[in-house]
Amino acid sequence: MMIRKVCLCVTAFVLSSTARAQILGFTPDSAAHEAKIEEKFKSIPSADEERRQHRVFTLEPHTAGSKRNNELAEYIRDEWIKQGLEDVVIRRYDVYGTNPKSALLEMIAPVHYQALLRETPLPGDDDSKNPAISGAWLGMSISGEVTAPLVYAHSGNPEDYDLLRRHGISVKGKIVLVRYSNPYSYRGFKALTAEREGAAAMLVYSDPQEDGYKQGPVDPDGPWGPEYHFQRGAITYDFMVPGDPQTPGWASVPGAKRIPIQEAVSAPKIMALPLSWHDAKPLLENLDGPIAPPDWQGALGFPYHFGSDKEKVHLKIEMENGLQSYYVVEGRIRGSDLPDEWIVLGNHRDAWVFGGVDPSSGTASMMEMTRALGQLAKNGMRPRRTIVVCSWDGEEIGLTGSTEWGEQFADDLRAKAVAYINVDEATSGPNFHGQAVASLAPMLEEITRSLKDPSGKTLYEEWKAVVEREKEAGSKSTQFSSSGVMNETLADTRIGSGSDHTVFLNFIGMPVLGLGFEGDYGVYHSAYDDFFWMNHFGDPGYRYHKLMSQLWGVTALRLANADLLPFDFATYASNIRQFVNEMVKGNDKNMWGQPPSAVQSREARQPKLDLKVILNTIDAFESAGKKLNESLARKLATGALDPKLAEKLNHGMMQIERNWLNPEGIPGRPWFKHTLYGARYTYAHLELPGLTEAVEKQDWATAKQQADILEHALEKNTKLLDELNAALLP
Ligand SMILES: [Zn+2]
Repeated sequence: MMIRKVCLCVTAFVLSSTARAQILGFTPDSAAHEAKIEEKFKSIPSADEERRQHRVFTLEPHTAGSKRNNELAEYIRDEWIKQGLEDVVIRRYDVYGTNPKSALLEMIAPVHYQALLRETPLPGDDDSKNPAISGAWLGMSISGEVTAPLVYAHSGNPEDYDLLRRHGISVKGKIVLVRYSNPYSYRGFKALTAEREGAAAMLVYSDPQEDGYKQGPVDPDGPWGPEYHFQRGAITYDFMVPGDPQTPGWASVPGAKRIPIQEAVSAPKIMALPLSWHDAKPLLENLDGPIAPPDWQGALGFPYHFGSDKEKVHLKIEMENGLQSYYVVEGRIRGSDLPDEWIVLGNHRDAWVFGGVDPSSGTASMMEMTRALGQLAKNGMRPRRTIVVCSWDGEEIGLTGSTEWGEQFADDLRAKAVAYINVDEATSGPNFHGQAVASLAPMLEEITRSLKDPSGKTLYEEWKAVVEREKEAGSKSTQFSSSGVMNETLADTRIGSGSDHTVFLNFIGMPVLGLGFEGDYGVYHSAYDDFFWMNHFGDPGYRYHKLMSQLWGVTALRLANADLLPFDFATYASNIRQFVNEMVKGNDKNMWGQPPSAVQSREARQPKLDLKVILNTIDAFESAGKKLNESLARKLATGALDPKLAEKLNHGMMQIERNWLNPEGIPGRPWFKHTLYGARYTYAHLELPGLTEAVEKQDWATAKQQADILEHALEKNTKLLDELNAALLP
């Protein structure tokens, strides 16, 4: 609430001093100029071109490391050169890759059933007949063969195995059958959990309860997953360290030092395979033993049981895991005034099959965005700062391409980068979801006011309606966030992992934004996520693809052309305070040693960890941020800006995000260095990761140490804002 007030008074100030165009970070003159540039930019992307590009990328399967995916890298390079991008290069990384060779699954007792492990063609969708479509496989599964009893373990999370134990069931040496769950938990976490439980293998299936007929009509009649669809995906333990497992923390450029795969913490040591419900049904139906609890039941129309040791399956998986090359395409539009300040944009190129939504909707939007940026530059409207654009590879395997690129250019990025804007799945429906570190949330809101949604309303109005609907629905679970916590800002400021922003936020310390339009989408990572699906359900008419190109490009242009970077640190401070309060609330019992209501005596009213100092430093950071918002707005309104002063202010503001990093990383996961943002093993967002995990473990020594680190980062950033404020004194 306080945030809004700050924004309002800044706006009011600008309003009263001038009736001309006003944009956060711009003087009145340059705002008027920027408005013209953006109008021109927004007029360029076309729905027909979006569709044409989308067809190029969805024509054939293109997994990481495949011939087709490498051809598409060359296609992007050639297009970008034609579009007018500069310094276009393809960068090669030699990484530990993963490919399927064969898979066999059969139930041998009490009945015989041989799993199909294929997705059958759908009427009307010719792409679904493509013989190049892979069978069932999960990236980074190990090879092996086992015949063992089968146990149903619900979502495959630790509490599920605890429940099995309470029923006297161990999964040691057995094969577990788990399902893709709602709320989402990353399948790699399920694999690690099964591995830790001593299971011989993990089968993971799509229950129609979550993404099939229980949700609505299935493909080809609707957007939900049909009988034979299965969800591929990697099980890499990239929540420990993302990227190539053999080069943790450094780039796998050709010839780089590599650790043995046996020593790589992110390489799984378990066999795993995904199943359609068609293949899972005979297995589940024939399981005996105790009946599973109500929340373990699904939509297959019979009671699910745990298994009794008499039901046996035979599983054989042959993988080809080993060194292979991934390719990142990089291009840029060099800035006219400040070429050494970079706005970085990226989308991954590799798909599990055709990648209709994931990622080709994003890739099509990227190609239209770069075409428009190139056209502006050709017409003399070059951005003031440099815009760097990347097509990542191997995102699906372990965020690999972006991680290696980020590690390779970490020093450059720490010196030059303003922000990273990620688009992964651009469009699976009409509902906008915008993520941002809180310092950029006001800018993103402002931008959406200047864009028109296909509904005829502004994107801002539509976004607000989405957020309000989510609020009403209570906890809505999206793929990468599961808490359903609502923000004071429209932008979702709780940023977990699961896409290419990770290296930039958590390793480099860059502010990040993530943009996407969402809708009912039950064919994720299956062969049915394709051109047909997009044209019938996701975005017929490609209007949201076009809007994404506009939004992505305008966001880049705002950051690239601003006189003073549009960061809002008062909003950031308020958001951090919310993180602390939520952490305390979520750990009431841990913090007090008993429920707070039970704490009676005055002496006992001492929490295990005193956060008063932190809350005070947040207050100081917020005051400095408010003061800076006001002085920046006042300075901009004068219209006169000394370039030396602008440089000092901009470089200072760029440094804020870097200062949140702790070079030691969070306890146990040194690669993840951000003190405010992290991710749980499930990929779910985890705020104040080092502090929160220590409090959850009731490790008070570590918690105190992590609180001190956070406090010092806050003090450092308050001091930096004070310096900037002093520089702005009249
Ligand atoms: Zn993706």
